[in-house]
Amino acid sequence: MGLRCGAQDTVYRSVPTDGCRIALTFDDGPHPGQTHRILEVLERYGVRATFFMIGVNIRNYPDAAREVIARGHEVGNHTDSHVCPRNLSESALAAELDRCEDTLENLCEYRPHLFRPPEGVVNAHVRHCAERGDYTVILWSVDTRDWETRQAGVIAERVLSRIRPGDIVLMHDYVADSKTPEALELMLPKLLALGYEPVTVSELLGIG
Ligand SMILES: [Zn+2]
Repeated sequence: MGLRCGAQDTVYRSVPTDGCRIALTFDDGPHPGQTHRILEVLERYGVRATFFMIGVNIRNYPDAAREVIARGHEVGNHTDSHVCPRNLSESALAAELDRCEDTLENLCEYRPHLFRPPEGVVNAHVRHCAERGDYTVILWSVDTRDWETRQAGVIAERVLSRIRPGDIVLMHDYVADSKTPEALELMLPKLLALGYEPVTVSELLGIG
């Protein structure tokens, strides 16, 4: 649910929805191999998702970032170097957001409007920087912890056992040997058979 603290200051963990929409999200990329593998699975099931990217990885792997955008997925700002907001002054956090945003605009001609703070930290600096940059802060309601297991079935079950309409699911595309693509292969046909409709976060919010 959105925690509304002012007109410009809303943090979403999930989004109230009438239908069966959910949003799949992938953090910390792009990665030169893993991002493409995930995109291939999403494409096979006609599903669009949201990728919260890190500026330094966009500069290292701009083709991977461009492929995400070219395939119609959404990209959000996950800061430039993934430093925890707890350790940053407000001006330093603003610079982190700006540098990631500039990288996306310069290399991908894309302007993000969603911000996911590293480690999901929401403090006054995060709220102020989001407002200043006209960002909506997006957290998650289902955490797959896909980085801690090498069993695709475990990751898929963490989603299938908890998913509710309006949920935002956290996964990662920057763990080189993770089983996230295989987990998607397992969970997507089941989610679709249950009637769930994976969309981008902006579509879930009704602004995409
Ligand atoms: Zn992250």
